[in-house]
Amino acid sequence: MRPLTIIGNWKMNGSLAANQQLIEELLSSKDFLANLQGVRTGLCVPYPYLSQVSQLLAKSSIACGAQDVSDHPNGAYTGDVSAKMLQDFACQYVIVGHSERRQFHQEGDGLVARKAKACLQANITPIICVGETEAEHDDGKTLTVVRRQLQAVLDLLQGQIASCIIAYEPVWAIGSGIIPKSQDLFKTIEFIKSKFRDKLPKVLYGGSVNPENITNLKKINNIDGFLIGGASQSAKKFIDIVKKTYS
Ligand code: PEP
Repeated sequence: MRPLTIIGNWKMNGSLAANQQLIEELLSSKDFLANLQGVRTGLCVPYPYLSQVSQLLAKSSIACGAQDVSDHPNGAYTGDVSAKMLQDFACQYVIVGHSERRQFHQEGDGLVARKAKACLQANITPIICVGETEAEHDDGKTLTVVRRQLQAVLDLLQGQIASCIIAYEPVWAIGSGIIPKSQDLFKTIEFIKSKFRDKLPKVLYGGSVNPENITNLKKINNIDGFLIGGASQSAKKFIDIVKKTYS
């Protein structure tokens, strides 16, 4: 079985009490821990919980990550958080360019690429999200949109691309319960990989991954792992997904 990367995105959810319970459940599950040999797993959590979650995960093989980062190293950017600050909390991953940030914070391709660069400068792996909206999908523009989103990354990061992770997340699949057809997913992942030639980043799929559909999704053999939103906020579902990925 190829080594897959499984990253949870809690989005803007959680509380001190709920996080502790969820992580204790993960860490006390023998099945879950047994399946973690050789798997890269991480949880990307809201900023205020980084300290708590990184301490709870410190002795485990689950990495801690964040959901956004500033493209600046420091300075007069009220409300922003730098990659160096995230490094202080042992963050190994940062999601950049999630469609919810592109949509609700008007983040463009150039900014997303600069955020990825800021991560790399702090030795943090950026998880760069790309994906088309429902309208773009219906218009047959998936590859055009993904090509445009990746171009900014290629222009800025060139030689460092193998240190990044790309997450293909069709916007219409996020939180909708609908996933792309396997052959379409294979084609889009193949297209993404073709942009990088020999210096290949890992390419994850994200969008409504759950314990029911993971068995089919893992059969798509060019996918290097999964970015999981809703289902990562339940210890039971996250454990189930990891178990089924490796059974
Ligand atoms: C996400 O937000 O990155 C995501 C994939 O969400 P969901 O799994 O809930 O569709």
